[in-house]
Amino acid sequence: MFIGHFAVGFASQRAAPRTPLVWLLLAPLWLDVVWPILVLAGIERASVSPGFTAFVPLDLAHMPWSHSLTMAVLWSIAFAGAYRLGHADARGAVVLGLGVFSHWVLDWITHAPDLGIAPGLAARTGLGLWNSIPATLAVEGTAFAASIAVYVGATRPRDPAGRRGLVGVVAFLLVAYVVSSFGPPPPDIRAVALALLAATAIVLALAVWIDRHREPRRTVQG
Ligand SMILES: [Zn+2]
Repeated sequence: MFIGHFAVGFASQRAAPRTPLVWLLLAPLWLDVVWPILVLAGIERASVSPGFTAFVPLDLAHMPWSHSLTMAVLWSIAFAGAYRLGHADARGAVVLGLGVFSHWVLDWITHAPDLGIAPGLAARTGLGLWNSIPATLAVEGTAFAASIAVYVGATRPRDPAGRRGLVGVVAFLLVAYVVSSFGPPPPDIRAVALALLAATAIVLALAVWIDRHREPRRTVQG
């Protein structure tokens, strides 16, 4: 799943009005920040395999540290704790922890059976939404559109830049989604990993900018 993870980040602004968007977006992306780093380091293994699923040409053979169920729980707790150390925002920490874990749930819905339960266990699970291109586009597209509506309902621009920044990040994500979904298959897994890290860095930089130019519509104690 790609823009579905961003959808979780945008929508969670409503549940955590005081939490910066950059954190809310990073949380549901986190497992896919760990994954390309471990792939580039040779610790986790994957390969480009056109046709492996109808929608995504990747054979995600071995990713116990970034994407097993047990590690997803531990990453969620660690991420929430790391945020809480630097922020007096307990509500935000809980929302961020749930955001990290949402990645595993969404990947479980979309992936072929390639998600493990814990490092060292052979069992794999995944419901395989990616086997249907129309169903993938319908689910991800609907979730993304709904999440932007929720985010716009939860925040307002402080100045014109607050509106332009949001339009910019939505346009970037849609173009990246279309290119990665319908462009030629990537040359190798290193290119996939580097592209994923680069796209994430661009979105987070835009989110930092958006955070300076938008504010919550209402404040919630927590
Ligand atoms: Zn993932």
